[in-house]
Amino acid sequence: MDTNQLFPKGDKAPANYFTGDVSVNILVPKDETGTFAIGDVQFEPGCRTNWHTHPAGQILLVTAGKGYYQEKGQAARTIQKGDVVVIPNGVVHWHGAAADSPLTHIAITNFKDGVNAAWLEPVSEEEYTALS
Ligand code: MN
Repeated sequence: MDTNQLFPKGDKAPANYFTGDVSVNILVPKDETGTFAIGDVQFEPGCRTNWHTHPAGQILLVTAGKGYYQEKGQAARTIQKGDVVVIPNGVVHWHGAAADSPLTHIAITNFKDGVNAAWLEPVSEEEYTALS
C-alpha cells in the first residue's frame, strides 16, 4: 500500500463513468444519520471522472498527489494535497489526476431524492491533453 494514502484502495470505479484506473472506497455510506456519502477516490496518473453533475453539490478534500478540477466552459484548476473544492449544485464538471501524478481525494457527496450524481460524456483526450 502507498504510505501516502490515508485509506486503503477500494473497488474499481465503473468504466462507463470513469476513464482509466480509478478506485472508490465508500468510507461512510448514506444512511439515516446524514444526507451524504463519503468516499475515498484514488486516480492513477491520467485517470479521471467523466463530465458529471451533483444535484445537491459535492466537496472534495485532496489528500495526496496532483490533478485537476474543471467546470464546463471554465479553465481547469490545478489541485493538490491539502486543497478543498466546493462544487455547487448542478454544475457540469470533472475531476481527476494529472498526466504525471496520481491523485487521491475524499468526496463528500450530498443526495437529493436518492440521487447524488448524473453522469455525462467522458473528458476527451483533446480536452485532457490541452491541460498539460
Ligand atoms: Mn464531482
